[in-house]
Amino acid sequence: MSTATSTTGNAHAHQADLFQGEMFDNTIKILETAGNAVGCDPNVLERMKRPKKAVIISVPVRMDDYRVKVFTGYRVQHSSTLGPYKGGIRYHQDVTLSEVAALATLMTFKCSLLNLPLGGGKGGIAVDPSKLSRTEKQNMTRRYTSELGTLIGPDVDIPAPDMGTDAQTMAWIMDTYSQELGFAQPGVVTGKPVEIGGSLGRAGATGLGVVFIAEKALEKLGMKMAGSTFVIQGFGNVGTHAAINAFNRGAKILAVSDVSGGLHNPNGLDIPDLLRYVAENKVIKGYTKAEPISNEELLQLNCDVLAPCAMENQITEANAAKISCKVVVEGANGPTNNAATKILHERDIMICPDILANGGGVIVSYFEWVQGIAHFFWSEEEVNNRMKGIITNAFDKVWELRTEKKLDMRTAAMGQSVRRLERAMLLRGLYPR
Ligand code: NAD
Repeated sequence: MSTATSTTGNAHAHQADLFQGEMFDNTIKILETAGNAVGCDPNVLERMKRPKKAVIISVPVRMDDYRVKVFTGYRVQHSSTLGPYKGGIRYHQDVTLSEVAALATLMTFKCSLLNLPLGGGKGGIAVDPSKLSRTEKQNMTRRYTSELGTLIGPDVDIPAPDMGTDAQTMAWIMDTYSQELGFAQPGVVTGKPVEIGGSLGRAGATGLGVVFIAEKALEKLGMKMAGSTFVIQGFGNVGTHAAINAFNRGAKILAVSDVSGGLHNPNGLDIPDLLRYVAENKVIKGYTKAEPISNEELLQLNCDVLAPCAMENQITEANAAKISCKVVVEGANGPTNNAATKILHERDIMICPDILANGGGVIVSYFEWVQGIAHFFWSEEEVNNRMKGIITNAFDKVWELRTEKKLDMRTAAMGQSVRRLERAMLLRGLYPR
């Protein structure tokens, strides 16, 4: 008996090691804290900590110079209790199994928090996409899709864009999957171009959602969006749309940054002008109507809203004491680690956590999926209004739980989400029992 117990224990430890990594471990700790705070069934909580399925894929690609390079790709499917797996595909040189597992886990809890009939998944390829030609990127995407085969599908697992991927990438995935099946399957991905079944408003949805959440947070602090000050890290899909939507609502964007560096203008940046510059030059470097600023300095600027919209682990114990905003709105996934969350909470800086703040993208992905199934498409205004309803309602639920149980916002968001998933898991039960 004792041998059997210890064998199981070792196997469990070994399995946990497979996913171990800072972001995954942080995510599991938040889950444990939140699960305990809302009194989650311990057997259910144990199941929530482990992704259901993970695949590692070799992706051989013919490069432009005829050499073949083999990239490593992943897809992690965390939970399908509430519906098909749902989550983006990331192309970045630092992608690992552990990071993808963490992001897949966050997707499960994001969809649960937002009350969507979707589970959680995530994929990625360890590659620097800026070093690939368009043909190489297309070849890599098509081979990765083909290797995923029936692991993805409109009722199974539905990818979307993430860092380093965009609507064009989704079009290639949709085309490859459809070619192999013999007929068009637009429902296999979301974030597609509108011409092939995408939704109006999807491209800007995550950034717009960030602004809706910032507006709610400012309201709780007795402030208004118009006249507030923003600092935004990351000027890609999420960052640019957060910037323009905040700018259009009268906020002053003091600073932005991307991989090439940062820009600061204490009087506020002219965001439409900067967007035109980036459309031509790809990055913000070289823009002359603002002062250059380092990424470290940018994060520490005095402002009302700090929106990290680039990547994970940007606010840590190393800089949390120097953060000087009233609220952090997490456009990126996992930008603030657990140690920093604690420090910011003690300093009375509100955090609107990733699973809430960047939920606009998956909400409109859900709308895209629904519109595709119904073959009936909505106006952009309808999409944005419906998204606002869902994301602000989720904010209110998180605020309620935060107040009721005296939790920080991250634990409250996860707790709210755990509650819904727990009920569904208990109703479905464990097969076989
Ligand atoms: P993207 O590739 O379009 O943009 C990423 C941006 O971050 C780029 O401007 C890049 O230059 C910048 N960047 C990279 N490293 C940086 C660094 N060290 N310092 C400053 N800037 C840096 O990616 P995206 O789709 O905007 O995603 C950004 C984050 O938002 C990711 O964490 C992603 O998981 C999350 N997210 C994206 C979506 C979506 O719909 N695209 C939805 C939810 C969450």
